[in-house]
Amino acid sequence: MKLIVASNNKGKIKEYKEILEPMGFEVLSQREAGIELEPDENGSSFAENSAIKARAIFEITDCAVLADDSGLTVDALGGEPGIYSARYEGIDTSEGRSLRILEKLKDVPAEERGAHFVCAIHLILADGREIRASGSCDGSIGYGFKGENGFGYDPIFMYGDRSFAELSSEEKNSVSHRAMALKDLIAKLKGYDI
Ligand code: IMP
Repeated sequence: MKLIVASNNKGKIKEYKEILEPMGFEVLSQREAGIELEPDENGSSFAENSAIKARAIFEITDCAVLADDSGLTVDALGGEPGIYSARYEGIDTSEGRSLRILEKLKDVPAEERGAHFVCAIHLILADGREIRASGSCDGSIGYGFKGENGFGYDPIFMYGDRSFAELSSEEKNSVSHRAMALKDLIAKLKGYDI
């Protein structure tokens, strides 16, 4: 089944392809599908934003569409950056946003550095049926940048004693918030006649 993933984020598309293609989906990024739309993500939760994106793309295609909204929530920052992860405090680069979090947490002790990656998925099947799924991954904010892999906040997100950017893509894909949300989605899809 052809599936448009409503994103052009290379890191994300790579992860979706790695997880969904072995299951028989033909994954296309928005760009590969020739869609330029950038819907306003003005919802108040990850779930609302993923639904807004999926519905906007679905209106202009006849393929199945998967949209996600994901981000980092940091306990010591009252859940920030949350749904603002991609544009936290108006900073343009991932490094800059990560650095801002490290600065804000500079006096926060280890036991209060809890953080979570969260992902909401909204899938619209070609016939218009909508399925929601979600997943999260618990970790903590480290004390600096570690590792070369991944993208976004991966170098500051500690999963056990390694950062997400120190995990191989196979390791990350087996524990990440996106992997957990996809697992939830796949379990839900079993109840559907596609
Ligand atoms: P969105 O779901 O594309 O809106 O993602 C929001 C932001 O969350 C991205 O710009 C990333 O900075 C961050 N993010 C989401 N997933 C990950 C991940 O797996 N690793 C690191 N950062 C992530």
